Amino acid sequence: MRYFTADYIFPVSSEPIKDSVLIVDDFGEVKEISPLSKVKNPKGEIEYYKGILCPGFVNAHCHLELSYLKNKLKAKTGLTGFITQVLKNRFSYSKEEIDEAIIIAEQEMIKNGIVAVGDISNTENTFDFKAEKKLTYHTFVEVLEISPLKAEDAMVNARRIKRGAKDLKLAASIVPHAAYTVSEKLLKLINEDAEKNKGIISIHNQESETESELFIFGTGEMYETFKAMGVHMDFMRVTEKNSLQSTMRFLKGARKILLVHNTYTSAKDIKWLKSEIRDKNCELYFCTCPNANMFIENKLPDYNLFMEEQLDVTIGTDSLASNYTLSILDELKTIIKHYPEIPLQTLLTWATKNGADFFDFELLGSFDAGKTPGINLLKNVDGMKITPGTEVERLL
Ligand SMILES: [Zn+2]
Repeated sequence: MRYFTADYIFPVSSEPIKDSVLIVDDFGEVKEISPLSKVKNPKGEIEYYKGILCPGFVNAHCHLELSYLKNKLKAKTGLTGFITQVLKNRFSYSKEEIDEAIIIAEQEMIKNGIVAVGDISNTENTFDFKAEKKLTYHTFVEVLEISPLKAEDAMVNARRIKRGAKDLKLAASIVPHAAYTVSEKLLKLINEDAEKNKGIISIHNQESETESELFIFGTGEMYETFKAMGVHMDFMRVTEKNSLQSTMRFLKGARKILLVHNTYTSAKDIKWLKSEIRDKNCELYFCTCPNANMFIENKLPDYNLFMEEQLDVTIGTDSLASNYTLSILDELKTIIKHYPEIPLQTLLTWATKNGADFFDFELLGSFDAGKTPGINLLKNVDGMKITPGTEVERLL
């Protein structure tokens, strides 16, 4: 047994507590949280820390395979500028460079107290590393193909990649990249696959304003960018509705959907989602990646709206192509800088439990008895507040 105590313990599934001891067995399984006064300490087994104890973080959105693009792309170019840069740089690196970057990135996440990751994969490049199970992963095999004529081929390829994951006993599901990179036909195929497999889906949602312009008017920066790339623009879906409303109704077969970014999601959109999409068979979760949003669009989502609507929010780092670190704590610091009024209990729920719930990582996300969530120490805090100088140390 090990006995941990600190100024505050955040079990996350319940309110934070003082003067208590978190008791875990030798396998890291939580036994109980006891009042400090009730725990006998004859052999001095209790480990005292200054700061806050919380469960290991769940990184709900990452692209581990893009880690080789760290420090390679220019910031604040807008989404179309970012996509153009990724495509330009994509094939300029060797397998050794790509592998090396994946290993370093995973190590960084472990050091930063991340215990589980929802990871987007367009290739099998990360699978051998994930199979070592240093972290718990759910792999989203991502498809993007605008031409409905190539939808079947795109699915064949995605199924092949998913089989590769399954062969290595990795949890995986097939998901669309974003509203603007899939045809209606492909959406329907993805939906069928999700329905059949009781799958969970993620989709990049409303990361820019220009993606809705594309759907509503069939014009704008994204339209022009794709056209300049030689994309067959007749295939673009012009629906006179925004990107969200043009897409989500095709994905209702999924058991759960994780909408990623939501930088331009409005109160009207949330109301629409709640009435048209969310029901007991299709749960909606929202992932925010604040540092990537600042890197790409220099804009954050409306967190007041997230709070008012009581959304199930999760936190992601996105990839090192659009972020300087893979650290959930760094994401929290960015949110706090702009929204200092959000309570730490809420932020830590976003950073731990909600991600674990979305991915069905039943042993992670809170200090409930029987779980093995990992233990993070948040040091250099100000009472129950994270400060710019706060650091995370992984205790378990
Ligand atoms: Zn992403």
